[in-house]
Amino acid sequence: MPAQKQIRVRFAPSPTGELHIGNARTALFNWLFARKEEGVFVLRIEDTDVERSDRCYEDVVLNGLKWLGLDWDEGPDIGGPHSPYRQSERLSLYDHYLGILMDKGFVYPCYCNDEELKAEREIMLAQGLPPRYQGRCRHLTNKERRRLEAEGRRPAMRFKVAEELVEVDDLIHGSVVFDTTLFGDFIIVRSSGIPAYNFAVVIDDALMQVSHVIRGEDHLSNTPRQILLYQALGFDIPKFAHHALLLGPDRTKLSKRHGVTSVEAFRQKGYVPEALVNYMAWLGGGFRGEKEILDKEEIIDQFDLKHAGKNAPVFDEKKLHWMNTRHLRRLPPEKLLEYWFDLTEGEGRGEEELLLKIVPEVIGNLETLDQLRGLVEIFSKNEITFSEEAQDVLQAEPARKVLSAFRDVVESVDNYCPGDQYREFIKRVQTLSGCKGRTLFMTMRAALTGKTQGPELEKIITHLDKKTILLRIEQALRTYNHDPLHL
Ligand code: GLU
Repeated sequence: MPAQKQIRVRFAPSPTGELHIGNARTALFNWLFARKEEGVFVLRIEDTDVERSDRCYEDVVLNGLKWLGLDWDEGPDIGGPHSPYRQSERLSLYDHYLGILMDKGFVYPCYCNDEELKAEREIMLAQGLPPRYQGRCRHLTNKERRRLEAEGRRPAMRFKVAEELVEVDDLIHGSVVFDTTLFGDFIIVRSSGIPAYNFAVVIDDALMQVSHVIRGEDHLSNTPRQILLYQALGFDIPKFAHHALLLGPDRTKLSKRHGVTSVEAFRQKGYVPEALVNYMAWLGGGFRGEKEILDKEEIIDQFDLKHAGKNAPVFDEKKLHWMNTRHLRRLPPEKLLEYWFDLTEGEGRGEEELLLKIVPEVIGNLETLDQLRGLVEIFSKNEITFSEEAQDVLQAEPARKVLSAFRDVVESVDNYCPGDQYREFIKRVQTLSGCKGRTLFMTMRAALTGKTQGPELEKIITHLDKKTILLRIEQALRTYNHDPLHL
């Protein structure tokens, strides 16, 4: 029996902008497939569009994938047996294969310029025909070519397409048949010498021995062109799987019009990668079982490309938000803090020990990571800032009484522990100030945290040290009580 061909998949982003969640989902599908099948996941940068590509966007894509935990086995940064992994560094390879196609008579130089092509397209559209190249340069004589070149025209290279039907046997769509007369002869190398997408992608997928091309449905119509090139070059044709695209609530392709769409924007909003990965994998196909919250290993185990890629899913941030809440609760506090430091570029660093004690106590109330912000401020800074609501509380009449009683009681005790001692402590502040209930608790909370909402007061008081508590009471008194004689 012939040895089973190794599974090799690739994600091939063009570095022209942020990492869109739809593209990240394509990367995820490839990664899940590779991990499930014990295959190889290749990252290739398709940067032949010189005007739109930028190295900074390559970093954006790589960082986004790393943050999501989608590690690659070969790629531009780590190399591999099929280096280089950036198309701009592979131009001599495309040249080589162009030579082969020319020798075999599969290509011809096309001297038509943009205006001529546009005019041709418009005429065809006006006649209700699919716009395709009519083959004006297909049969030029050498003399005519020389004349056009003498005019200063530089040719693009066009691939000759015979009239036939091309079948794409797609793992998700099944058999899809395309009539080549709908697209006609197509450009494989532009007049600038830069290869067109359909050409470069075939050379790369073939040379990188990609066994499965998993990508968005928007590329399905490119596939017959690519199959013709595989055939002309005598390359093995990979298996194709074109997954459905993410939609916005109005069922059009998800785009910026619908809100934030980049992986980085979701990171900034306080979502954790575990939730985003879970959500992207769940969308469209869901999972086999009832369970929706899964970790990566479970997702790999459940992943079924055909199932996941079939239905066009509508992106729903509310569901992502819910998944985020659930994943936050599952994260070890160390991991959560790591994400927090990553998000805030180190806010609260140096207070890890204390934060690690606090995080498990509040994790159940967190929906997004940025909600930790207030908490970190409470426990990691000496002076705090007061929200407007907190200012109102502290400026109200009873605040002075509560705060001075609070200060006196804190000064009289060495330390206070949760439970009975805490209750005893509160009772003393209550008796001394003559205030109780909401007034009492809200004033203490506002002075200690600068907010009117947050973790339980008991947790705050038991985790803050005496010096910090006194400092904050003083800060509140100083800032919001203008009559020191009454203190
Ligand atoms: N660079 C192409 C894109 O970003 C890749 C398409 C493909 O996977 O073949 O759409």
